[in-house]
Amino acid sequence: MKIAQDTVVALNFTLTDDAGEIIDSSEGDALSYLHGHGELVVGLERALTGRTVGDKLEVTVAPEDGYGEVQDGLEITVERAELPDDLEPEVGMELACDGPDDETLTMWIVEVGDNVVRLDGNHPLAGQTLHFKVEVVSIRPASPLELDHGHVHEDDDGDAIDSGAYTH
Ligand code: ZN
Repeated sequence: MKIAQDTVVALNFTLTDDAGEIIDSSEGDALSYLHGHGELVVGLERALTGRTVGDKLEVTVAPEDGYGEVQDGLEITVERAELPDDLEPEVGMELACDGPDDETLTMWIVEVGDNVVRLDGNHPLAGQTLHFKVEVVSIRPASPLELDHGHVHEDDDGDAIDSGAYTH
């Protein structure tokens, strides 16, 4: 079986930046994702399409195929009191915010002050070239429920859980 639209793929991966520093890694616990649904950055999905189990690849992804270029003017400062009461803000935390047209915007906390918090709409990896080392561990067709939800439902063995038993 080859990686194609609507397959569930498990990967071992290591992501490093231009300096060779490790940004993220599956650390032996393979990452499962639904191919073709925007879960991975575009450049990595494109490189994985058509690959098969056991394939190892090194993929360099430019910002435009990764998390985008850094855009100016996406930072805002909010009062801590405007954040949900149960939220303890930390740098790097991802928040879903209401945009000006009631759309949902993803923002990242970049600074936490005593009274205010600064948020940035740029992904923390925006503007960075991403270097992935990837090994394809398994490939299976997605279940109907997985396709309906647009993400993977599976147990620790990598088998699909196609019932209400799956908790998100
Ligand atoms: Zn689901």
